[in-house]
Amino acid sequence: IGCGGKPASPASSEPAAPAKQEAKTEKAGSNKIGVAMPTKDLQRWNQDGSNMKNQLEQAGYTVDLQYANNDISTQVSQIENMITNGCEALVIASIDGGSLGTVLAKAKEANIPVIAYDRLIMDTDAVSYYATFDNYMVGTIQGNYIVDALDLKNAAGPFNIELFTGSPDDNNARFFFGGAMDVLNPYIESGKLKVVSGQKKFEEVATLNWSTEEAQKRMENLITAYYSDGTQLDVVLSSNDSCAIGISNALQGSYKGEKFPVLTGQDCDVAAMKNILNGKQSMSIFKDTRTLAAKVVEMVNAIMKGAEVPVNDTKTYDNGKGIVPTFLCEPVFADKDNYKELLIDSGYYTEDQLK
Ligand code: BGC
Repeated sequence: IGCGGKPASPASSEPAAPAKQEAKTEKAGSNKIGVAMPTKDLQRWNQDGSNMKNQLEQAGYTVDLQYANNDISTQVSQIENMITNGCEALVIASIDGGSLGTVLAKAKEANIPVIAYDRLIMDTDAVSYYATFDNYMVGTIQGNYIVDALDLKNAAGPFNIELFTGSPDDNNARFFFGGAMDVLNPYIESGKLKVVSGQKKFEEVATLNWSTEEAQKRMENLITAYYSDGTQLDVVLSSNDSCAIGISNALQGSYKGEKFPVLTGQDCDVAAMKNILNGKQSMSIFKDTRTLAAKVVEMVNAIMKGAEVPVNDTKTYDNGKGIVPTFLCEPVFADKDNYKELLIDSGYYTEDQLK
């Protein structure tokens, strides 16, 4: 698991735009790297940030790490400061992927390479590379988990399902949802899965800012409108844990059906893992932030040395100005049966943290 999944083939590891790297080769500079993270509210970004900082420092860099409280203008001014303060490369997990064009034009002008971290930065030619987990695969794993959990290949159904995905300003959300729906749509079309609310379009099922409260509110409304008479809800697709936690809260609060629905998630947040162990969520996607950070540090090193930057996908991620060369790490699912091996034995969590 992790980033080792798909080795970069020599052909695909050709940097798309060599010009983007050249300035870093000779310059004796600050050795400072700017790392911009979206928010401290979500556990994963705290881990991402501290992993990046530790690993970059171990590699000999100084690090300017900033969190933007999910506020777009805060993130813009943090990046502006990183540029003014002499950062030599920027690693950015954007809040709104479409809002950084202006500030990143300044980075480009100053010849500062930019790596989009986890989320693609859209509509700018200033992004040199992208590193993330395979977002489409996250969705197909969630979809396939549902297929297996309900034994959809054999069971007659119909099973009732509701759908939740993430923030519309996050390019990842469409990949997660698209991957899951590519797996689930044939069962919806054949009638084995029934979206009782009828809410199937991305716009109808998106959750602004991946907000737990928003997801909880929408789930409560769905329960009131369609399930308050005890109608069984068999499964809820949730693209990540912050939404799944809200959905689970709503279900625990007011759902009257016989069986708690199958519920998906992503990130293996501690709160979600606890729900999984208590039967209030079924699975999560494990994206080991240590391996993503390690890969990005490799990319930064390569850029700073003018060496070949590791990528393994040069066709998927078009940000509106062209394809951004990408390194995709491989996600896997975690549930109550395999979490020990994945999360405890690997040292990601201690058993105590999940109690
Ligand atoms: C990340 C997910 C995360 C979500 C909410 C996405 O861009 O890929 O891991 O759950 O943002 O922060």
